[in-house]
Amino acid sequence: RQVRGALFTWVRPESQQEPELLAVSPAAMRDLGLALSEAETDEFKETVVGNEIHGWDPVTLSGPGYPWAQCYGGFQFGDWAGQLGDGRAISLFEATNPRTGIRYEVQLKGAGITPYSRFADGKAVLRSSIREFVVSEALNALGIPTTRALAISLLPHSKVRRERIEPGAIVVRFAQSWLRFGTFDLLRARGDRTLIRRLATYVAEDVFGGWETLPGRLDDPGDPSKTPTPERNVPKDTLQGPPGAEENRFARLYREIVRRNALTVAKWQAYGFMNGVLNTDNTSIFGLSMDFGPFAFMDNFDPKYTPNHDDYLLRYSYRNQPTIIWWNLVRLGEALGELIGSGPDVDTPFFTSSGVTEESAPPLIARAEKLINQAGEEYKSVFLAEYKRLLTLRLGLKTHNPNDFDTLFSPLLDTLEALSLDFHLFFRRLSTLPLSALSAPSFRLENAARFFYKEDPPADDAETGGRQRVANWLAVWRERVVQDWGSSDGTVSEEADAERMAAMKRVNPNFVPRGWILDEVIRRVEKGGERDVLNRVLHLALHPFEDSWAGREFDGVTYEGDKEEEVRW
Ligand code: AMP
Ligand code: MG
Ligand code: MG
Repeated sequence: RQVRGALFTWVRPESQQEPELLAVSPAAMRDLGLALSEAETDEFKETVVGNEIHGWDPVTLSGPGYPWAQCYGGFQFGDWAGQLGDGRAISLFEATNPRTGIRYEVQLKGAGITPYSRFADGKAVLRSSIREFVVSEALNALGIPTTRALAISLLPHSKVRRERIEPGAIVVRFAQSWLRFGTFDLLRARGDRTLIRRLATYVAEDVFGGWETLPGRLDDPGDPSKTPTPERNVPKDTLQGPPGAEENRFARLYREIVRRNALTVAKWQAYGFMNGVLNTDNTSIFGLSMDFGPFAFMDNFDPKYTPNHDDYLLRYSYRNQPTIIWWNLVRLGEALGELIGSGPDVDTPFFTSSGVTEESAPPLIARAEKLINQAGEEYKSVFLAEYKRLLTLRLGLKTHNPNDFDTLFSPLLDTLEALSLDFHLFFRRLSTLPLSALSAPSFRLENAARFFYKEDPPADDAETGGRQRVANWLAVWRERVVQDWGSSDGTVSEEADAERMAAMKRVNPNFVPRGWILDEVIRRVEKGGERDVLNRVLHLALHPFEDSWAGREFDGVTYEGDKEEEVRW
C-alpha cells in the first residue's frame, strides 16, 4: 500500500500456534531491565511471538500504543527503489529500562504481513533468524553499535516457501531507534517538506535527547560554555549563533548522524565485519549496525570480499564500506538539504510556508553543498581517528605514532592479504605471543608464520617469502611494543608483557560467529532437532574475549559447554 502523510501504520501480528521458545539472550534481558527468570513465564513466551499485545486495552481503547510497522524507502545498489517499509517487522511498544534510562523500540520480525510487505509473505525463516539473533548479540558484545536481539522462537506450524520449504521463526529485536536514512529518502521523494522537518525535529529532540546534545557549531568548536542551548527554552535567534553563522541546528543534527556512522563503520573495519547490503534503507540514523542478511565476518583477509553473491560490482565489499556509508550520508544530506541550507533563515515564515523560490534557491543549495562537504571532512577525520584507536588497541600499543599507519598497520594488512591469513586468528594469536618468544632462537622464521596459519603453512611458503614477511613485521611490531611497554633500559618486564597480553585479549575476540559456524548451528537445530547448541553459540558470542567457556559461570549460570566444539569454533 502506498502511504502518504505518515510514516507508520497500525498492524496486528498474526497469531501463532504452539510456538517454541528456542533461546533468550541474557544480555538483552539485562539491558531491557528484565530478570532472566521472567523469560520462563507463559506471558513472555506469548509476547515474543505476538500472541499477547501489551500497552493497549481493547475494552477502553486506551494505552501507550498498538503495534505498528514503519514506512520508509531506500536507494538499493545506488538506485532509488521507492517505498519499502517494514514488510515483516512489527513494533510492539517502547520500553525504558528504569536503571539506565535508555528507551528501546521492541519489535517482532517474521510475525506476518504488513501494508509494506508488497509481494512477499511477511515471514522469516529459521535460518536467517538464527543468523540475526546471534550476530546482533555478538556485535554488541564486541562493542559495536547494533540493533539487538532478545529471543528467538520456532513456529512449528509455519512452512515458509523460499528456494525450498523452510521452517518459520520470529526474532524479537530492539533498538533505540529503527529509523533509517531511507525514512528521510522517502519523504524527500514525496516532496513532503513539513514531515521532513517534523521528523528531523523528532530525531533531535526525542531520539538523540535534545538539540543541546548535538555537536557544537563548526565555527564554535569545543567551548563548553558556548554549548548550543535547547530549542524549546531559548529564543530562536539564540540557536542560530552569531549573525552570519551558516550552520543552523539541522546542520548540527546532520553532523551528529555523520559522526555516529563514521564511528560505527570504523568499528566494522577494525573488526572485519561486513553488512553485505548497505542500502540506505539498511543504514541507521542512530549509527547502528542493522538489517542482517548476507553479513559476514572476515575469514582470510581479503579487502575485496563481499558476502553478497549478487554484489558483482563489489559495492558492498569490505574495502568499500566507508565510502558507501558516505554515499548514503550524502543522500541524507540532500533529503535534509533545504533545512541545512537555509542557515539562519530556517525558522522564517518564508521557509515554513511558501518554500524555496527561484531567487532563494541558488544560495540555499550552495550553502547546503558547502555544509555537506564540511561534514564529509568531519566524517573522514572521525572515521580515521576511531579506526586508528582500535587498531592501536588491537596491536597492544598504548600510544599512536604518526607513522604507525605506514610502518605497522598497512604492512600488516598487506601481509595478511598476501598470505591469506585469518584476520581474527591473527590478532588473537598475537595477544598470546610473549615478547620473549620472539627473541628465542626456536621462534625465528621457521615459526613466525606458522604461528598465524590455521594449519601448517603451504609447502612452498618458504620460497614465496611468507615466513620472512611475517617475521619482518613482527620485528617492527616488537620495537613498538618495547617503546610503549619497556622501562628506561629498553626491556619489557615479564609483568608488563603479561599486562600487555591481557589488555590485547580484552579487545581481540577469541570467538566471532563466522558463516560456517552459523551454518553448522542452523543445520543442527533444523535437521538434527538439537536445541542446546544455539545457547552454546550464543554464550560464546556474548563473551567473545574469554580463553575458554566450558565449566565457567556466566550470567549467574554455570555454563556446561562442549570443549571439542569450543576449540573447533
Ligand atoms: P532487505 O533486503 O532485507 O533490506 O529488505 C528490503 C525490503 O523488503 C524491506 O522493505 C523488507 O521489509 C522487505 N522484505 C524482505 N523480505 C520480506 C518478506 N519475507 N516479507 C515481507 N517483506 C519483506
Ligand atoms: Mg532492509
Ligand atoms: Mg533484511
